[in-house]
Amino acid sequence: MIENNTYHVSESGHYGEFGGAYIPEMLYANVEALREKYLDIIAEPSFQAEYNTLLQDYVGRPSPLYLAHTLSQKYGANIYLKREDLNHTGAHKINNTIGQILLAKRLGKKRIIAETGAGQHGVATATVCALMKLECIVYMGAVDIVRQAPNVARMQMLGATVIPAESGSKTLKDATNEAIRDWINNAETTHYIIGSAIGPHPYPDMVTRFQAVISEEIKRQLLDKTGKDHPDYVVACVGGGSNAAGAFYHFLHDERVKLILAEAAGKGIDSGHSAATSILGTKGIIHGCMTLLMQTDDGQIIEPYSLSAGLDYPGIGPLHAHLIQSERATVHAATDDEAMASVIELSKSEGIIPALETAHALAILDRLDFKATDNVVICLSGRGDKDLNTYLKYIEEHQITL
Ligand SMILES: *Cc1c(COP(=O)(O)O)cnc(C)c1O
Repeated sequence: MIENNTYHVSESGHYGEFGGAYIPEMLYANVEALREKYLDIIAEPSFQAEYNTLLQDYVGRPSPLYLAHTLSQKYGANIYLKREDLNHTGAHKINNTIGQILLAKRLGKKRIIAETGAGQHGVATATVCALMKLECIVYMGAVDIVRQAPNVARMQMLGATVIPAESGSKTLKDATNEAIRDWINNAETTHYIIGSAIGPHPYPDMVTRFQAVISEEIKRQLLDKTGKDHPDYVVACVGGGSNAAGAFYHFLHDERVKLILAEAAGKGIDSGHSAATSILGTKGIIHGCMTLLMQTDDGQIIEPYSLSAGLDYPGIGPLHAHLIQSERATVHAATDDEAMASVIELSKSEGIIPALETAHALAILDRLDFKATDNVVICLSGRGDKDLNTYLKYIEEHQITL
């Protein structure tokens, strides 16, 4: 690891003043063992061979880099879509769960736990557990279980046990608390597959490395298509920050590349119903790391809101907190309405129905000042199938004529 390289994690697990590992004593030995071993395991030739073969033959990588003609005309630049929506299970999350399940096996773990909000990470985890024949327990807020019934059914078909989190607001944050509780009680046997670039060190770095395949491919594909191995902009939506971290990774230290994050403003940044964590957030600890989070003056977490279940997390990964604070990355926020307009626009103009999370990255393009020669890559993090009910309801409520 390059220590003096400010956007990579430090030996102590920090990105600038963010990151670290704030964990209960009972988990210390487990997290410490993971920290000691993860880089060596990932570097093993047999690990790399298995990981790359699965990414190619099971996930369907490399995902295409598509020059979107209508969007390019509209924004006056070359707009490329990195098609993570075409991956098995419909989003980027599988890149991480494949990597972590291979790691868990090499650590001798027999049991996998995960948290999930919309159910996408739960499905991606249940999928790799079925593939590797490991027991899978997914914690999910009781409210989310009702809202996301099709994903619950998918997880069950894949052989996972879905356990409802009945505390607090019965959503993602509460599911995460339940997963951590389980982990404390079963630390020896169990690996916790965290679904984003969040949590105690080494999780943010580990998840980022597994998602870094996205920017590795972008480099290669752009060189092929344009003769240049770097774009002028990379744009990604951010919940916890794993698709953005993966899309940025190989460009973090290339100042020619502007890094743009799109957050969920919900009903508006100042509406009291938002998930614009980096704009509204202050420094604090959530789920094991120091980062930016939405909290009251006395440190109580403020419930986030976004129409998109994948973005309504009250924190942001520590890498992104650092990128924002050091002004390496710029954040823009899109409201539910702006994201929905982008969903409809991409569906009609390019024939691609994006996930609602992803649409936030499309919705902020008109705030960027492109030159005609600019190559802009948008991480199309997922497909919209899971959101069809939300879309239909929104279209009906707003009396939109398609
Ligand atoms: C989960 C999800 C996200 C948000 O998670 P990140 O870790 O911030 O990438 C974004 N897009 C899709 C399609 C998702 O499923």
